[in-house]
Amino acid sequence: MSETSVAAPADLAELRAMLSAVAGPINFIGGGTDMLIAGRPMPAVGLLIDLSRIAGMAFICADDGGIRVGGATTVAAIAAHRGIATRLPALAEAAAQCGSVQIRNRATIGGNIANAAPAADLVPVLVAAKARLGCIGRDGASRELAICDYAPDRGFLIAEVILPRDGLLPRSAFVKLGPRLDLSISRLNIALLAEFQDGRFGDVRIAAGALGPRPLRLRIAEAALAGRKLEHATLRDFLAALAADVDAAIPGRNSQAYKRRAISGLGLDLIAQAVGLSPRDQLFEDVVQ
Ligand SMILES: Cc1cc2nc3c(=O)[nH]c(=O)nc-3n(C[C@H](O)[C@H](O)[C@H](O)COP(=O)(O)OP(=O)(O)OC[C@H]3O[C@@H](n4cnc5c(N)ncnc54)[C@H](O)[C@@H]3O)c2cc1C
Repeated sequence: MSETSVAAPADLAELRAMLSAVAGPINFIGGGTDMLIAGRPMPAVGLLIDLSRIAGMAFICADDGGIRVGGATTVAAIAAHRGIATRLPALAEAAAQCGSVQIRNRATIGGNIANAAPAADLVPVLVAAKARLGCIGRDGASRELAICDYAPDRGFLIAEVILPRDGLLPRSAFVKLGPRLDLSISRLNIALLAEFQDGRFGDVRIAAGALGPRPLRLRIAEAALAGRKLEHATLRDFLAALAADVDAAIPGRNSQAYKRRAISGLGLDLIAQAVGLSPRDQLFEDVVQ
């Protein structure tokens, strides 16, 4: 008969030893919001490792060198962290909009990535910021990989999320569209990181969720903004480019028509948040007319 056993290692050394010693299936549980509350079937066999008590897996370090976040850090801690709000406001915003207070208090950044939901709210920000993941494999050894190369079926533990300084840009924003405001899985979410000075964009990186199996970069929209002045013509080109990105991502899908319209409103909110203007500023009103 098959059975599951549960282990709660106290530190990373104990966890590494466990990973390399156990031959059968291993699963992790962070906050359990996907595994327990969302009602996903629990693993029927093997070892379930509880990550919530591991010293050194829940931390945030944000300074001039970049940002490092432990894989078991809660979404609530990310939303409340002053250094993240300063260095990468989009990540704080995405965390603040992730589920309800109860969900944010349990949900972890590692679980948000590993769950690999198309609409996971933290992931578009991490993709746009060129995040790297500090992982531990089944052999107990560490390896670092780009977030875009992470695949949950390889069984890697996400020990930390690394946001190198050169991936961060001075402005950032995150917006989402969901069926309800307080407890909603996104129907569409977008993150933007940009240089913006004297009314002109420099480098721009944009990533969106719920437009495919994994969050992806919106390269057409990035090209429509990069190096351009913030004015009507740029915004009109940007909105057309966002629609073109939707067409390229989900051609023929039932939701295509809805999402290519919805992304316009989100796109203007995104720019407003990034450059510190009200979404009701005349600049945006004129573009939608
Ligand atoms: C009511 C409700 C509302 C929600 N709203 C949102 C929302 O608005 N936005 C959003 O993005 N998500 C939302 N979610 C989904 C969920 O809360 C997040 O994806 C959360 O971040 C998952 O983290 P967790 O620690 O709870 O994951 P868990 O449930 O513990 O684990 C999820 C998966 O990730 C794996 N895992 C966990 N930690 C690690 C790790 N460190 N390394 C490798 N694998 C790991 C587990 O093995 C499991 O397969 C919601 C869920 C519910 C139930």
